[in-house]
Amino acid sequence: MESLEQLFEETVRDIYYAEKKILRALPKMAKKASSPNLAKAFEMHIAETEAQVERLEEVFDLIGKAPRGKTCPAIDGIIEEGEEIMKDVKDDTVRDAGMLAAAQAVEHYEITRYGTLKSWAGKLGMSDAVKLFDATLKEEKATDVKLTELAESEINIEAEEATAAPAKRAGGKS
Ligand code: FE
Ligand code: FE
Ligand code: FE
Repeated sequence: MESLEQLFEETVRDIYYAEKKILRALPKMAKKASSPNLAKAFEMHIAETEAQVERLEEVFDLIGKAPRGKTCPAIDGIIEEGEEIMKDVKDDTVRDAGMLAAAQAVEHYEITRYGTLKSWAGKLGMSDAVKLFDATLKEEKATDVKLTELAESEINIEAEEATAAPAKRAGGKS
């Protein structure tokens, strides 16, 4: 890789691969979620992710390249960890907490990528690409905030209550 332009293109391909992988993972996560609110959050993000893939295809168009992904080992690993939780955790509420955390790891990866791409697009004078990356970046950040709120208002509370040690449960809440 010789130039920022090439690095930019490789990184667009990286996140394009990642978004497509996420698009395959989200329906499985929505199906496995036991909290209807968590399932709904995953489902909402499927529709957003579809639009994000289209934005990336617009960026490929802007640089005159055919949309082509490049294997992203980071997203493969993050999703693999999520799959392990889905498979191994027996308690529904604890599994929900683990899946929500895995989803936040995904969002954080996306946030770093889109933040970087937006900066690079600006440096390269690609104002249309800046707008596209910014629109997606806002959605990823909003999703992360929404997941934190859901974790703290419902998912973590239920996971802790469902699996607290008996003595603590008998003692009740102070
Ligand atoms: Fe995304
Ligand atoms: Fe990557
Ligand atoms: Fe996302």
